[in-house]
Amino acid sequence: MTVGELGEFGLIDHINGLVSAAGPFEGVVLGIGDDTACWRPHPGLEVATTDSLVEGVHFLVDLATPEELGWKALAVNLSDVAAMGGVPGYALISLALPPQTPVEWVTGLYRGLLDIARTFRVGVVGGDVHSASQIVVTVALWGTVNAPGPLARSAARIGDRIGITGTLGASAGGLRLLKEGRPVPGPLRQAHLHPRPQIEAGQGLLHCGVKAAIDISDGLLADLGHLCRASGVGASVAAERVPVDPHLREVFGGDALALALSGGEDYQLLFTAPGEVMEKVQVEVSFTDIGEVTQQRKGVAVMDADGRSVALTQKGWQHF
Ligand code: MG
Ligand code: MG
Ligand code: MG
Repeated sequence: MTVGELGEFGLIDHINGLVSAAGPFEGVVLGIGDDTACWRPHPGLEVATTDSLVEGVHFLVDLATPEELGWKALAVNLSDVAAMGGVPGYALISLALPPQTPVEWVTGLYRGLLDIARTFRVGVVGGDVHSASQIVVTVALWGTVNAPGPLARSAARIGDRIGITGTLGASAGGLRLLKEGRPVPGPLRQAHLHPRPQIEAGQGLLHCGVKAAIDISDGLLADLGHLCRASGVGASVAAERVPVDPHLREVFGGDALALALSGGEDYQLLFTAPGEVMEKVQVEVSFTDIGEVTQQRKGVAVMDADGRSVALTQKGWQHF
C-alpha cells in the first residue's frame, strides 16, 4: 500500500501506532494526537535545533534504507545538541512524502528513528505529514544544557589546543563509493548512514571545563573556519596528526587525508581549550590533539611535518 492510498489521517494513525509501541516517555504530558505536544521541562538552559534531509540533496532513496535515513535524520540533530554539551529531550518529526511512497518505507523510517531515539533517550512527541514531489524528513529537537554550558563556537582563545573526537573522512568516503556504485566496506557505510552522535563526549567536554566546540558536519576545515570566525581567531592544524579513518585509508590511500580534512558529515566534535583543561579532558573523553589556536590574521592553516603550509583547494561542503 502507498501513503496516497492510506490517506493523511490513516498515515497519522499508523505513525502514532509505531510511536506508541515504543512505550511512554518520561516527562511527556501529551504526545502525538493533540494540537501540540506537552512535556515537563528539565532544569538548566533549553537548546533547540532543526535539520532536514532532502531527497536528491542529502540522500538518494536507492542508496539508503529507510531505517538508515530515520537514524540519520535524528542523528544529525543530536550531533548539534552534542556540540553544545547538551542532554537531548524531545523531538518533532515532519515528513513530506510523494503519494506513491510505500507505507512500508515510512514504517522503516520510523524503525530507524525510534531506534536512535531509544539509544539517546529522546521522546518523539509529534510531527506533521504532507504531500510533496520529493521526500523531506525534518526533525526539530529540544534538549537542555547544564551549567557551566553551553559550549559555544565563539569561545576559542589564542593559545588553546585544538581537539577532535573519533576519526574523520569515513562518511565522505562511504558517500563517494555509494555514488560511484562501488562496493562500500561496512565501516564506511556505517559512518555515512548510521553515524553515532557524540552526546556523551559533549557532556564530558563541558564537565572538564571546555568552552568552545562545534560538530563536524561540513568538514574539519570548514567547521574549524566557522569556529575561528565566531571567535575572531585563526588556527594551525598539523596534517600528520589529523585522525584519518583507517578504513578510509585502506580504500583511498593518498586521497584519504583530503577526505578527512574536507569531506564532512563526520559528526565528531571539534573543540578548543587551554593545555591544562586538555589534560583533564584526556581522562574523560578520547580525542586527538591536532593543533593550536592562533591569531586571526593567520587564518586556518594546515602544516606538513616540516612546518610548511599545505595548499588546499576544496574547503568542505557548502550549501547554495
Ligand atoms: Mg486546536
Ligand atoms: Mg541542514
Ligand atoms: Mg552543527
